[in-house]
Amino acid sequence: MKWNKLSDKVLSGGRVTREEALAVLQAPDDELLGVLHAAFKLRLRFWGHKVNIHILENAKSGLCRENCKFCSQAIGSYSGVDRYQMMSPEQMLAGARNAYELGAVKYCIVTATRGPSPRELETICTAVKKIKEEMPIHICTSLGLLSPEQATELASAGVDRFNHNLETSRDFYPEICNTHTYDDRVNTIKHAKAAGMEACCGGIMGMGETDEDRVQLAMELRELEVESIPVNFLDPRPGTPMEHCTRLTPVQCLKALCMFRFVNPTRDIRAAGGREVCLKHLQPLALYPANSIFSEGYLTTSGQGSPADLEMIEEAGFHIAECVPA
Ligand code: SF4
Repeated sequence: MKWNKLSDKVLSGGRVTREEALAVLQAPDDELLGVLHAAFKLRLRFWGHKVNIHILENAKSGLCRENCKFCSQAIGSYSGVDRYQMMSPEQMLAGARNAYELGAVKYCIVTATRGPSPRELETICTAVKKIKEEMPIHICTSLGLLSPEQATELASAGVDRFNHNLETSRDFYPEICNTHTYDDRVNTIKHAKAAGMEACCGGIMGMGETDEDRVQLAMELRELEVESIPVNFLDPRPGTPMEHCTRLTPVQCLKALCMFRFVNPTRDIRAAGGREVCLKHLQPLALYPANSIFSEGYLTTSGQGSPADLEMIEEAGFHIAECVPA
C-alpha cells in the first residue's frame, strides 16, 4: 500500500517531498486508516506509546498590542477574555506544582505580548529558578519576540524550551498579522536555539490557508529543525476577525497531524489547541500521529480536563511519559 511505502521511505532515512506531503492532506477519506497506520509506524519508532503531557499557564492575559487575527488576546479583539498583568513568581510556582502533580512533562508559561519587558523577563527568570529548585519538570516559555540577549537570559535561568509559532506559511502570514513579520518570528526561533534552548514552533490549521500553505509550514519547520511542533486547529473565537471561519472536520485534522509527522518524523508533535472541539469523537485517533497533547485546557478556552485526557490515553493503549530531569 502506498502509505506504508511512504513510512518505509522515511524509516530508511528518506525525506518526504512537497508532493508527497500534499498527497497526505489530499488522500481520499476512505484511505484515512491507511494514512494513520503509516504515520503511526513513525510515531512508534521515535516515541513508542508515550504521550507527553504539557500544561499551559496564561501568565499575562488579554493585553497584547499585536493584531494576530485569530487571537482573542489581540488588540482590537472584543472577545471578553480575562485581562491581567504578569503573575508573580509564587503564582507560577504554584501552577508548576499543580502541573507536576497532574503528570505533565512540560509547564508552559505564556504571556500575551509582542515581547517581554526587562521587568517581565526578570519575573519569569525568578519563577523558573524557583520551579527548577523544587521539581524536575521541564519549562517552556512563550513570551513573544526575543532578542539574542533575552534568549541567553532565559536559557541561563533554566528555561528548557522556547515557544514561538510561525502560525502558517510565509505566503499566507500577511493575511493574519501585520504588526510584525514572518521573519521576526523565524529570527526569534533562531535566537532561542542559538542560546541553547529547544524550539517549540507550530501553527494553526483552519484560518483560510490552502493545503500548500500547510505543507509549506511543515517544511519550514523542518528546515528550522525545531524540536517540538504544536499543531493547533482554529476554534474561531467570537469577537476576533476570524470568528466566522468554519472549523476543520475531524478527518482534515487527522490528515494534517499525519502530514506533520511524515515531514518531521522524529519531532515532538502535539495535537494542540482545538483538539476537543475539532476532532470530536475521533480525538483518540490523534494519538496515532501525535505523541503529545496539552491537558487542562488552553490559554483562553477550556479542554476536556485531565481525568478525561488520562482515560483517553489509557483506553487507546498509550501511556503518559514520565518527567525526568532535563
Ligand atoms: S502576539 Fe501572541 S498574544 Fe499577541 S496577538 Fe499575536 S498571538 Fe495573540
